[in-house]
Amino acid sequence: MSDWEADSDEGEPCVSPAKPPLSESRSETAGPSRALGTRPVGEDKEGRGDGKRWGSRPASAREPWQSGTLEYRARGSFRGGGRRRVESLPLCFHLDNALVGTLIGRGGTKIKELEESSGCKIQVAKGNYKAEIKIFGGNDKQTKAKMLIDNLVEKYSQNNTGEKCIKDSFKYKDIGSTSYSESQSVVFNSGFNSPKQPINWASLRENKAKYEAMKWADLPPIEKCFYKEEPKIAFMSQEEADKWRKENNNITCDDLKDGEKRHIPNPIHKFEEAFKHYPDIMANIKKVGFQKPTPIQSQAWPIILQGFDLIGIAQTGTGKTLAYLMPGFIHLDSQPVSREKRGGPGMLVLTPTRELALQVEAECLKYSYKGIKSICIYGGGDRKGQISVVTKGVDIVIATPGRLNDLQMNSFINLRSITYL
Ligand code: AMP
Repeated sequence: MSDWEADSDEGEPCVSPAKPPLSESRSETAGPSRALGTRPVGEDKEGRGDGKRWGSRPASAREPWQSGTLEYRARGSFRGGGRRRVESLPLCFHLDNALVGTLIGRGGTKIKELEESSGCKIQVAKGNYKAEIKIFGGNDKQTKAKMLIDNLVEKYSQNNTGEKCIKDSFKYKDIGSTSYSESQSVVFNSGFNSPKQPINWASLRENKAKYEAMKWADLPPIEKCFYKEEPKIAFMSQEEADKWRKENNNITCDDLKDGEKRHIPNPIHKFEEAFKHYPDIMANIKKVGFQKPTPIQSQAWPIILQGFDLIGIAQTGTGKTLAYLMPGFIHLDSQPVSREKRGGPGMLVLTPTRELALQVEAECLKYSYKGIKSICIYGGGDRKGQISVVTKGVDIVIATPGRLNDLQMNSFINLRSITYL
């Protein structure tokens, strides 16, 4: 069992992407699944659980929404006097991933509003390109929720391109066996009964630029340049710069961008030459007692502080981590939208392994800058604890890809606020 599954057993409301619902009776009495018209497997229609279908755990201790994958039991239940009442299936449709932020809103406020206004439960599962939206509730309520979402999406599209966004919606028909690829054959438009129009690929391609613009439209503006070159450094000749590089670990630099090569900034020699205008950074450097920048820092800081992307290759122990962290601290605290108002972390450090993630965290924790908070999230770590910290608000996320993807897909972490990677 993966640690994702293990942790989600603890009662976390995890939502897994793309899982077709199964056929099963359901009741509507207590608990979140009841509100959605579902009944846990192993419970009778009065809501008594025998627990057998969940193995050794009693059914009352493990509801479908607590399992790693949400399974909504889809057909109606028997209720009072043996009359069969058919419940509504979830109303499912797809939206571009780019629109999900609009639908969910900062900290999930928008989606909560939508749920309250419509009386439905709305579930969002992001896929590679599109998100699947499921609306649970009675038919009228579902229609109302769908209308509210359509309005929201249309308002958003008009604000951004004046065009309607691609959206399609359908209700599950063959609940038991429909897979997502198969579900194309049972797709209906939002009217639920007119067949889906064929995709106009030519027009989609034509509008690619517009969709791209739309995708990035609600991202915060970025300020990137925080470097004021000291005259002494600016006046270094090319020969002097090359000589310094040769004598300091034989540094070589290349501009990987296509086209005309840009000037590689001259290396600095002292901390002040990079951070004179940032006294809190200087205070941190004094506190840890470093004497002078390492060669990779001397060359990296003038580049990163100007906002250029940099691939820095140097041996372990040469000070690479700090080469990236210090400009990151400045970047985080100097953005036009303040940290509190960005609705998520501003810096992401993605590492391939848990060991490296912990190493970066240890380096990060040596410094304190303007109350910047960091968290290290990795598979095998305490998922609940990580979620609790992330949702309270952090500025720097140091992560391994699996756990980051898990928290992002389940909307615990919003990566749209990241401006420094
Ligand atoms: P790293 O290569 O990033 O793993 O860093 C190795 C160690 O060097 C870490 O413990 C850093 O705190 C330390 N370090 C970073 N920059 C300097 C510096 N300019 N002078 C001395 N030690 C440094």
